[in-house]
Amino acid sequence: MLSGGPFYTSGVKKGPFLAPDVAVVGAGPVGLAIAWRCASRGLRVVVHDPAPGSGASYVAAGMLAPVAEAYFGEHELTGLLTASAARWPAFAAELTEATGADLGYRTEGTLLVGLTADDLAEARRLWAFQQGLGLPVTPLRPSELRDREPALAPRVRGGALAGTDHQVDPRRLVPALRTAAERAGATLTATAVARLSEVDARVTVVAAGCGAASLTGLPVRPVKGQVLRLRAPGGAAPGFRHVIRGYADGEHVYLVPRADGEVVVGATVEERTDTTVTAGAVLRLLRAAVDLLPELAEYDLVEAVAGLRPGTPDNAPILGPLPGRPAVLAATGHHRHGIVLTPVTADLIADLITTGVADPLLAPFTPDRFTTEEGHPWN
Ligand SMILES: Cc1cc2nc3c(=O)[nH]c(=O)nc-3n(C[C@H](O)[C@H](O)[C@H](O)COP(=O)(O)OP(=O)(O)OC[C@H]3O[C@@H](n4cnc5c(N)ncnc54)[C@H](O)[C@@H]3O)c2cc1C
Repeated sequence: MLSGGPFYTSGVKKGPFLAPDVAVVGAGPVGLAIAWRCASRGLRVVVHDPAPGSGASYVAAGMLAPVAEAYFGEHELTGLLTASAARWPAFAAELTEATGADLGYRTEGTLLVGLTADDLAEARRLWAFQQGLGLPVTPLRPSELRDREPALAPRVRGGALAGTDHQVDPRRLVPALRTAAERAGATLTATAVARLSEVDARVTVVAAGCGAASLTGLPVRPVKGQVLRLRAPGGAAPGFRHVIRGYADGEHVYLVPRADGEVVVGATVEERTDTTVTAGAVLRLLRAAVDLLPELAEYDLVEAVAGLRPGTPDNAPILGPLPGRPAVLAATGHHRHGIVLTPVTADLIADLITTGVADPLLAPFTPDRFTTEEGHPWN
């Protein structure tokens, strides 16, 4: 809980010369959604970012996948992913209502597939784990798989349906969040924040993705991901509707079809800080993609790009006040999950600011979990 109770009451005075109630550092999906939620509650909000939407979200596929992303040893993260995914339908509807924007939000679900017998064995191990958590993974017979997606390669040995894993287009989401935040009264300023002491506000939210490390000392590190964007020929929609995630000869790959003809193929996971696109990564991604869905060989290759996920030591986000600094809140480290986690992050951080009370959902994700035994944070 934040010490001192709520930061704000409905009686907070507003005026052009007062410092804002909330400064948000970073206009990615997380920062913009927090700004939208706070501004909608009547707070004066300023968002600092020299290049809004230019972070990891610009590269992200936009899978909303708490089931397929439930991995061994990440129970608490899985709980947060599930809680946020459950908020997505209402969040998307509210954002569309506020802006009129088409978010590319699609609910056909996700097919999980294995190309070879070894790939399928690997996939089944994970499905059994996910089913053990009570998550909805339904194994499909090969004929059921092909009924759902006839374009799958005949070689694909088997699969399962994660029907509640949906998708949104981050390149549509972020501009919509910006519009919603501005319409609710938030102001964007095109400044990079070099030190938090430069920021004049009652509460500062650090939502700067990988940029949070230098501002706070938190253990957020860049995890490189290379992604391709293909386009179906002749302006057609892709020849498949589900998100397809799978293993192809040991290579993990996902294929995300958009209604406008785009297909996102991803992604590498590399402990690197550069954003170079490499020939080897493009080769591996394309080979795996075409192995699963042969018609992709005829698509246009329109983009190859790399981004940096804001990773953390336990792969979970960092949410809440910095130790000893209750007026500085972290909302960062969303790693592979920042798009799916946007609604829950925005709601919980805005609640914390307006009420002073931390939702119990935040407890496993506070910054102080990285404090060392010696009491020195994060070294
Ligand atoms: C290849 C790849 C695929 C992904 N796929 C998915 C997916 O399918 N589903 C999913 O949920 N997530 C996915 N992600 C993860 C997701 O993109 C991130 O978790 C998410 O973008 C984090 O949002 P954010 O707003 O915290 O940070 P970012 O999107 O990185 O935005 C940070 C913003 O902060 C700004 N900034 C940085 N430093 C400063 C500073 N000092 N001052 C002012 N502004 C600053 C930047 O300019 C940027 O606009 C993927 C990521 C990658 C790289």
